[in-house]
Amino acid sequence: MGRYDDCSILDDNGKPYQYVAIRKDITDRKKVEEMILRSEKLALIGELAAGVAHEIRNPLTSLRGYTEFLKDETTEEEKQQYFDILLDEIQRIDFIVGEFMLLAKPKVLQFSNKNVISTLNHSVNFLQTEAKYKRVTISKQFEVDEAIIQCDENQLKQVFLNLIKNAIEAMPKGGDLKINVKKVSGKVIIELEDQGVGIPKEKLQHLGEPFYSTKEQGNGLGLMVCFKIIKDHKGTLEVESEENVGTTFKIILPLVK
Ligand code: ADP
Ligand code: MG
Repeated sequence: MGRYDDCSILDDNGKPYQYVAIRKDITDRKKVEEMILRSEKLALIGELAAGVAHEIRNPLTSLRGYTEFLKDETTEEEKQQYFDILLDEIQRIDFIVGEFMLLAKPKVLQFSNKNVISTLNHSVNFLQTEAKYKRVTISKQFEVDEAIIQCDENQLKQVFLNLIKNAIEAMPKGGDLKINVKKVSGKVIIELEDQGVGIPKEKLQHLGEPFYSTKEQGNGLGLMVCFKIIKDHKGTLEVESEENVGTTFKIILPLVK
């Protein structure tokens, strides 16, 4: 017994009963590679957005102005309805362009020291009515009531609003959205844990790509904007999900105190 054959250890009858394997865990390396790929993608989109967004906004302004003018001119109800549709569509384009402009490079962020807990509370309060209407309860489990970080508060609000909205939309039959906040070694960790439909494994990698949406009314820009903002704040945004069980988005940001 104890003869070796390549990586298998054979028994007295020459049958392998054990294997020796040298393995290297490459999950971390893979993760880093994925992160680099994503940030390169975002940088590219940012440059594109900077160039194109303004060019779209200008003609859009005259389109809206003249459409409103024509709507006021007409007394026919049917035509007025058409103009309303035009105005809605113009607003939709304007919204999408606006989201892209957030990614544009020379955006000046207004950084200051803020208590991220109160920013979070604001965002939760803002969506509380919508949550109730959709039978979603939001339970706050904050281990601390102060966590000061350097941030552009409006941008962070946008991250919280996007993530909470997504969580609500992921629970069409209602459910509970847990928001946990804790401080761990110089960082604040904010987790949003829903009981929603979840995200299949093969789709997780597409999160944050522009226009990746599984919703009829979605535009697939929300998460892209979230990833960009958290990156600008030197933080990370991670996601874990299990189909029909739920999804957890985890934001980690460096603390001032
Ligand atoms: P949108 O909400 O417009 O679809 P997002 O960028 O916010 O765009 O989200 C992209 C996609 O990621 C969603 O369409 C959905 O499939 C998935 N997703 C995001 N958040 C969740 C969540 N909490 N639970 C399940 N799926 C989610
Ligand atoms: Mg969304």
